[in-house]
Amino acid sequence: MSTLYIVATPIGNLEDISPRALETLRAVDLVVCEDTRVTKKLLKHYGITTLTESYHARSSPAKIEKIVNYMKEGKDIALVSDAGTPAISDPGALLVSRATEALGEHLLVVPIPGPSAVTAALSASGLPASEFLFLGFLPHKKGRAKLFSEITASMRTVVFYESPHRILKTLGSLAEALSPVRRVVIARELTKIFEEVVSGSPAAVASFFMDNPDKVRGEFVVMVSGAR
Ligand code: SAM
Repeated sequence: MSTLYIVATPIGNLEDISPRALETLRAVDLVVCEDTRVTKKLLKHYGITTLTESYHARSSPAKIEKIVNYMKEGKDIALVSDAGTPAISDPGALLVSRATEALGEHLLVVPIPGPSAVTAALSASGLPASEFLFLGFLPHKKGRAKLFSEITASMRTVVFYESPHRILKTLGSLAEALSPVRRVVIARELTKIFEEVVSGSPAAVASFFMDNPDKVRGEFVVMVSGAR
């Protein structure tokens, strides 16, 4: 029997981690992470010396097999991502699915909940969040126009992740596509030094970032109010 713990880690501020998450990272045989340098920084901060192994979007099937074999040997593993909750718009979901298939009833999958950019951003947005549509990262080309039509038509609050390289283009497209009564909220660099939440009409938020190129940096969550 092996246990695979899915451990949420901070999205910026290293203090945002639960005592249970730290206890788990200390107790397991191996911590599987995206970038070992990022995770080792967190482990070092808390004096944790557990071995790490990388697993990321470009990992080979042989790497997944290697990690699954540790579990077959009965080793307990903690899966973490670079930030936030593993498997939410990162490669963790594939590993969980492969491990579940391969070990069946010999594997226990245990989530250790904590930070996630999507919930942190929504909680500070002031937008209705009893229901919402989460789109992860928007595609760069194929399917992008269709998703913009979906965002325009959505009655629910829409949330997605965006990179600093594409945020201006995306805000420009939202300003073109959405009615001025819709609200756009940007949560940037949450829990970090330059944390900010910017909200307004689609055109106002697009202009704000166009006029402040020093703020077109870091990590972004984009939220759009539903059509009413
Ligand atoms: N699994 C992670 C989670 O639960 O938060 C998300 C992983 S996804 C690969 C990374 C994206 O999350 C970033 O590109 C950014 O859009 C968003 N993100 C992560 N940390 C953030 C932060 N501190 N502030 C705003 N957005 C953040």
